Amino acid sequence: MPKKEAVISIKHLNHYYGKGALKKQILFDINFDIYPGEIVIMTGPSGSGKTTLLSLIGGLRSVQEGSLKFLGEELYRANQKRLVNIRRNIGFIFQAHNLLGFLTARQNVQMAVELNDRISQVDAIARSEGILKSVGLGSRVNYFPDNLSGGQKQRVAIARALVNNPAMILADEPTAALDRQSGRDVVELMQRLAREKGTSILLVTHDNRILDIADRIINMEDGVLARDSQNIVLSRESGFKTHTN
Ligand code: ADP
Ligand code: MG
Repeated sequence: MPKKEAVISIKHLNHYYGKGALKKQILFDINFDIYPGEIVIMTGPSGSGKTTLLSLIGGLRSVQEGSLKFLGEELYRANQKRLVNIRRNIGFIFQAHNLLGFLTARQNVQMAVELNDRISQVDAIARSEGILKSVGLGSRVNYFPDNLSGGQKQRVAIARALVNNPAMILADEPTAALDRQSGRDVVELMQRLAREKGTSILLVTHDNRILDIADRIINMEDGVLARDSQNIVLSRESGFKTHTN
């Protein structure tokens, strides 16, 4: 059987901030792939380069050195139009939910639908309400963010990230602002939806309590990526398949 194409394939990626004498290398020779449906957790200390890597993968920042392919498309030297197209295939979830306060839960999700697709308003509403139902917020579609709990707001953000069926979800510390139970609920929801739709997830977290949802754990330290030695054990214990390269 042919090997499935990687959703993300990164080779010899370096990244720098600053110019001239202030130029500082942040990422060092990053190499890794993510396959369809895989849930990868990235851990590592603050300042180690995790958000920088996520922003490169998401096409939010230009690749300076090395190769980064999203579904076979090279992002190195890609023009803005291409980067925008790549972003359309990615759902972003951040630490802060980034909902718009003057829009209801449904309108926040609907906005993402309408940005992406030529779709009638009736269909956009139906699709938005459908995904809100699937994240357990069917009775909250007309609530404004101020009237939702932290966990509920983060679930709206997940619905918004998933509504266009992206190939990949990039989540940067999505449980950081949540209590233990809400954090757990939010990642289990992401896991379930990923399994149902075959979406890949790359999730950055400091939260040790959610590591078990991962198929694979990678660790960033000082801009260098190491495969976590516990990864195979963890994956076996949680009953998920592991990818061997
Ligand atoms: P993490 O997400 O692991 O905390 P970041 O990717 O945010 O790490 O940051 C990695 C390093 O790059 C840190 O030293 C940070 O101060 C620096 N950095 C992050 N963003 C910028 C930027 N826009 N300009 C200059 N330096 C930055
Ligand atoms: Mg960060």
